[in-house]
Amino acid sequence: MLVGVAASSGIARGSAFLCPGAQPFGVPRRTVAESELPEEMARLDVAIRDAEQDLLALQKETCEKLGQKESEIFEVQILLLHDTTLRNEITVRCLREKINVEAALAGALEKLMSLFARLEDPYFRERAADLRDVGQRLLDLLLKGRQNPPIGLPEGSIVVTGELLPSLAAQLNRKTILGLVAEDGGLTAHAVILARSLGIPTLINVPNAVTRIRTGDWLVVDGLAGRVFINPPKSVLREYDRLEADFQAHQNALKELIDLPAVTRDGVKIKLAASIGKSADAAAAVCFNAEGIGLYRTEFMFLVQDHLPSEEEQYQIYRAAAEHMTPRAVVIRVLDVGSDKLLPYFPLPQEANPSLGLRGTRLLLAHPEIMRTQLRAILRLSATHPVSILFPMIGGVEDILEVRRVLDGLKSELKSEGQPFDAQIRVGAMIETPAAAVTARRVAKESDFLSVGTNDLVQYLLISDRTSLAMAAYYEPLHPAVLHVLKSLVEIAQAEAKDLSICGEMAGNPAYLELLLGLGVRSVSVAPGEILAIKKVIRSVSIESAESVARQVLELGTVREIKSCLADHRAL
Ligand code: PEP
Ligand code: MG
Repeated sequence: MLVGVAASSGIARGSAFLCPGAQPFGVPRRTVAESELPEEMARLDVAIRDAEQDLLALQKETCEKLGQKESEIFEVQILLLHDTTLRNEITVRCLREKINVEAALAGALEKLMSLFARLEDPYFRERAADLRDVGQRLLDLLLKGRQNPPIGLPEGSIVVTGELLPSLAAQLNRKTILGLVAEDGGLTAHAVILARSLGIPTLINVPNAVTRIRTGDWLVVDGLAGRVFINPPKSVLREYDRLEADFQAHQNALKELIDLPAVTRDGVKIKLAASIGKSADAAAAVCFNAEGIGLYRTEFMFLVQDHLPSEEEQYQIYRAAAEHMTPRAVVIRVLDVGSDKLLPYFPLPQEANPSLGLRGTRLLLAHPEIMRTQLRAILRLSATHPVSILFPMIGGVEDILEVRRVLDGLKSELKSEGQPFDAQIRVGAMIETPAAAVTARRVAKESDFLSVGTNDLVQYLLISDRTSLAMAAYYEPLHPAVLHVLKSLVEIAQAEAKDLSICGEMAGNPAYLELLLGLGVRSVSVAPGEILAIKKVIRSVSIESAESVARQVLELGTVREIKSCLADHRAL
């Protein structure tokens, strides 16, 4: 049995498929005569042509299954296939060392990837992952020839991988992939968020997964306890038959809540919206009867492209999400990049400490063209659909005043062009920095609504990197500092008569929900797959008892005491 971190819940059982990209580039090396070198290069050309065809087929398949945007990652890889640096490096090695093309390719890949790794710029790391992906595809073609069908992950398998490569993320599909086991990965990695939104049981940070597991091994992936069993005995399988039946019964029971309102036992209505990353997720939000989209993270749409999307492209994508949700409202968050969220085609300057560097709204203010294009697309959509705009990483009232100024300029521009838009479009500020929390009253006065991003707020308040497993013990949403800040934000929003919603992962965790309600929160936005579990909690608690536990918790000084107080309360 291997132990890892449960990143997407559920239980998967099936045959393992070791993702080719997970293995080191170990290839046979042989000396070739000078006269054979042209033939070696011709083999490379054939492999490149076949790889291109396979990538095009994968792109088409992904586009049909998951949508246009998810398939565009393959376009980036096709461009890399034809990259002259890679080709030159292979050619030079072949000619200089008189070696077979596979060995030259493996050497070239190792060199380029280690160059990227040494630069330690996350932008290049993104490229390195694509390079590894493309390189492994070429090597497979050179070593094993064209396979028919050429591509893709075998249906009904549990994918085991060292690295969560981009092509893997793009191919994730509930029907094809039963489960996912990775040696690396953070809880906020793109592939992991995608796996979670598709309900694929996933484990990350499983040491030695690719050396201990072989393709064809029978696996049980426990995405609840963070364990993977390799060819387990019957007793374990029986235990998981039982556990899976319980899990399914639980899921089915939740489905009965779909049409019931999100109201507490004492009749208080809670707004339960969905947080999405792609317009296709809006379909899931509708399925679970979300009361609108509380957070549409647009950076995923930018991430799967190889260029900055135009105003028209963005308009069409946001319109697709808004159409799904009609007549429900959609809060569109403008591009939130910087630090751990990077666009391959938009390199940022190296910073010693990127999470304290230029990011979110400030980064957009520094690149007015990007902001302008996105805001114009959203404004145009506001003419026909109930959308509002949310600004991330607000660092204080200046940021919100500045974006309002930009927005006013764009409204005049659209007006003079005769383009319709909603002049009263609502503008929200994300409260996810300590500065925004401390100055929330002024920020609230200048905004139409507040959205609390606890994922970042917790990391910045507690100085604990949200992507670091090593800091996980310090990343504690139940820390008194977090709870007091949340309480004060709720009071400020009430006093200023502004809507406030919690949109960080904290809101989607059933263990925290009663406390949030007790602190006065009346609106949350959670992943579509979490809606029913959260609704279940809402319907099982009363505000009176939630407020009583919140009052007790706010008196306590340590996380340990707070956890034990909540546990005692639940046991009552
Ligand atoms: C947050 O920080 O809580 C949030 C919702 O934004 P993101 O997770 O996209 O940074
Ligand atoms: Mg955030």
